[in-house]
Amino acid sequence: MSSKKQTVSFLRGRFQEVGFRPYAKHGQNFLIDLNLLDLLVRVADVGPSDVVLEIGAGTGSLTARLVERAAHVVTVEIDPHLAELALEQLDGANNVTLVQQDVLRNKNNFSDQVIATLQEKMKEAGQRDFKLVANLPYSVATPIISNFLDCVVTPASMTVTIQKELGERIVADPRTKDYGSLSVWVQSQCYAAIVRELAPTVFWPRPKVYSAIVQMVLDPQRRVSILNLSGFHQFVRGIFLHRRKFLRSSLISSQKQLSKPDVDGIMQQLGLGPESRAEELTVDQMLALWHTVDSLKDSAE
Ligand code: SAM
Repeated sequence: MSSKKQTVSFLRGRFQEVGFRPYAKHGQNFLIDLNLLDLLVRVADVGPSDVVLEIGAGTGSLTARLVERAAHVVTVEIDPHLAELALEQLDGANNVTLVQQDVLRNKNNFSDQVIATLQEKMKEAGQRDFKLVANLPYSVATPIISNFLDCVVTPASMTVTIQKELGERIVADPRTKDYGSLSVWVQSQCYAAIVRELAPTVFWPRPKVYSAIVQMVLDPQRRVSILNLSGFHQFVRGIFLHRRKFLRSSLISSQKQLSKPDVDGIMQQLGLGPESRAEELTVDQMLALWHTVDSLKDSAE
């Protein structure tokens, strides 16, 4: 097994031999800067006890690097031709499982087989969590990151190559144009940072946009302190649906169980003026708001 390939000439030659053409819809843009593949693995800090999930094996170049370091790698690839090329590249490795299918059953749920395989490998390795390390397909990057923050299997960290614009939304601060439900959802549970911006030239074929390596490290204590995780996710999405609306109107329209006096009381209790907007609230303020709303909803039921 060699992990040193994946140059343009290697990819071109291999694809020509098997009659394969990269398909933009599936985000088939391969990382051809080998130093960046190494950087991704280094930043993810993969060690011999880790179970790693990769989504989008491609030709197996990143997979091969992960397999050299991890206890076990579960890699998922939607494209049967690429899955075959990846298996060829990984020939001889006994600590890798390739699942050839769409990682998502639908927008909000992962494939059952992927989750079951991950659970099985985590159990075998005696691990309670896994590390996601991937050069993610752009079209499904947001649901993958979002869904893992409320899933039966928990990532210890997610180190991923994604569209730069998505990375900026993840790490955004309040009162900026990028700050929204995704920023709050991720930052409520993770330390998130942009590690490196990537020009289109480091991929083949070249995408139209810039990318970034983004790392999100989960803080388990913060996560368990959030009551009703999926409720919080829905709440944040509802609040940011009309981001320029006053928070008061957003709360009234998205929290049907609460009366206007309830909403006014909550805002007063949290020191939020009538002209506050969702985009001005810090992640901690948003969590405090959610916990107050949730407890009032509970008592109203
Ligand atoms: N890992 C390789 C690399 O680093 O160069 C390939 C990464 S490429 C950006 C994304 C890969 O994800 C492609 O191989 C594509 O076929 C695969 N893919 C796209 N959508 C997928 C999905 N829904 N489920 C699983 N794999 C998917």
